[in-house]
Amino acid sequence: MRIALIGYGRMGREVESIAVERGHEVVATFDEDRPVTEEGLSPADVCIEFTHPSAVLHHVRTAAAARKDMVVGTTGWLAHLEEVRTLYRENGLLFAANFSIGVHAFLRIVRQAARIMNRLPDYDPFVVEVHHRQKVDSPSGTALRLAEVLLEEIDRKTEILRQAPDGRISAEQLHVASVRAGTVTGTHTVGFDSGADLLELKHTAKNRRGFALGAVHAAEWIRGRKGVFSMDDIDL
Ligand code: NAD
Repeated sequence: MRIALIGYGRMGREVESIAVERGHEVVATFDEDRPVTEEGLSPADVCIEFTHPSAVLHHVRTAAAARKDMVVGTTGWLAHLEEVRTLYRENGLLFAANFSIGVHAFLRIVRQAARIMNRLPDYDPFVVEVHHRQKVDSPSGTALRLAEVLLEEIDRKTEILRQAPDGRISAEQLHVASVRAGTVTGTHTVGFDSGADLLELKHTAKNRRGFALGAVHAAEWIRGRKGVFSMDDIDL
């Protein structure tokens, strides 16, 4: 497969090394100083995008105009999802806040735990995520996805509180807390607190390799498909 990398930072470089290991070819790279053009994408079969939330829509528009399948790993742009769906009818686009297979297993485990906790009203759920200081969006896309799963399964929670509370929080609110420090690749903890005990489920990313591998798998999967997909559409 011939791959164009849109974004050549920490993730773009990691994706390049995995793609080459898996026998693919990186035919073009773009970043802030080398902006994407339709023409620049022409030698590629598929684009893999890891840039900045503010740049995603422009990149999706350009790749759609060039009629290229696309994998989007950048987080923090989901407000534009409807427009992206209208752009990707003739080609395929797959997005995920987190391409790690372990995180997808984690999301399914959390869903099962939440179904149990829906029947145990003494337990109050929360989400805490920790990432490196360079991360631009908070809470992380993965933390918000975890919170959505909890809201989908636990009837007594109806609202996500994404920032520090201003005083007490209500029983319907689910608090998602973000910590930024050092070089942490990413940890996500889902807790369920009761008067008697505290249950915690935790995923810790050890490096970026798991994300990059998932993104290259996604690029292999999306080729030839039409429409917008997420990791939930790929069987574990
Ligand atoms: P980074 O800062 O190391 O690299 C960002 C790259 O994007 C750089 O090459 C930069 O030049 C380029 N860029 C920034 N703004 C641009 C613009 N306006 N136009 C063109 N290029 C631009 O960041 P990173 O650690 O590689 O992370 C990138 C994104 O990927 C972030 O949104 C992060 O949250 C996300 N991420 C997703 C996953 C996942 O599994 N989905 C995993 C890790 C990171």
